[in-house]
Amino acid sequence: MNLSTRITNITGGGSDGWDVFYKARRMIAAGTQVAELTIGEHDIRTAPDILKNMHQAALGGHTGYAAVPGTLSLRKTVADRIAARTGVPTTADNILITPGGQAALFAAHIAACDPGDTALYIDPYYATYPGTIRGAGAMPRAIVTDPAQNFVPNMDVLAKAAPAAKSLLINTPNNPTGFIYNQHILEQISGICRTHNLWLISDEVYDTQIWDGTHISPRQLPDMANRTLVIGSMSKSHAMTGSRIGWICGPAAAISHLANLATHTTYGVPGYIQDAAEYALQQGAALEAEIAAPFNRRRQITMDALKAQNMVKAIPAQGAMYVMLDIRATGLSGINFANTLLDTEHIAVMPGESFGQAAAGHVRVAMTIDDDRYASALQKLITFAQTNAA
Ligand code: PLP
Repeated sequence: MNLSTRITNITGGGSDGWDVFYKARRMIAAGTQVAELTIGEHDIRTAPDILKNMHQAALGGHTGYAAVPGTLSLRKTVADRIAARTGVPTTADNILITPGGQAALFAAHIAACDPGDTALYIDPYYATYPGTIRGAGAMPRAIVTDPAQNFVPNMDVLAKAAPAAKSLLINTPNNPTGFIYNQHILEQISGICRTHNLWLISDEVYDTQIWDGTHISPRQLPDMANRTLVIGSMSKSHAMTGSRIGWICGPAAAISHLANLATHTTYGVPGYIQDAAEYALQQGAALEAEIAAPFNRRRQITMDALKAQNMVKAIPAQGAMYVMLDIRATGLSGINFANTLLDTEHIAVMPGESFGQAAAGHVRVAMTIDDDRYASALQKLITFAQTNAA
């Protein structure tokens, strides 16, 4: 039986640049010690008090079908948090609770695009973006950026692509680059969305991991709340990656249609997970800062380690849990560098090519192992770059 082209085309065919990650997983399974600096998974687990709360909610009976758009109290908690952070009036009607940011990204594209519509995204990008757009039935079109411009999109290129598109997906703080879009950049992007009537899908899952600069949600810019769908998640902010809980914040009319989509797809998120998420959010900014702190420390370790040499340069990471390293001076591609580094030094990093064409000749390092092991892996990576330069 033939399967639909929509499902068979999700990955777009060819290598998706994740070979290094899978090879590292196989090496670890076979007993090799590998410094795993590939995916955005914290080296801590979800805090015991959040888990206790989840357990109690389940024991208390919140194990049946939960309210599909999310429990009213969690939606209110998320709405209040967003209103406090952005100044934009936000109520439970603006919030749909989803099984993680990934499900929110998919649903947002279904809401913004009809089948065959063009959906723009910025290259380099979080690995699932083009597949998510294809899965939603739209046509992904990358806006390729330049490392020399800190991977910020060229506004002329964006404005040229906009008339043929329905939506634009951005991500700040950015995975993989760690860059944060400032007010000026966001104003330019928002202006293009208003002029060309685009939905702006704003992926803000790293909004609690800010080291340098300020996080601004474009939803708070003039006339943007009615055309912005913000993607949020508890994965990174509260080390709850496995709990699969996030949200979409958008205009009430869009959220009510998105709730219909949820009824016909996920049928919501388990009630005990929602209760634990609400508890976690109620712990406030101190807990979020505590969870984010190790990445800032390791970013500093990275900057210090890179000071004394010129072979490896860091894109200044302003936020998130990654640092993008420019290894073009070695003459190696990101893929060759990452593969040989794994084979010889047992250090796993992601080739820049996994995130699109703009980050070729770079590698992304997830700062997700303890400080001492991280510092030692980074030193080895630098020595490797120096000895393997073509
Ligand atoms: N968006 C970005 C930029 C990410 O890096 C990730 C995960 O790494 C996600 C969304 C999805 O996160 P989750 O589905 O765990 O909320």
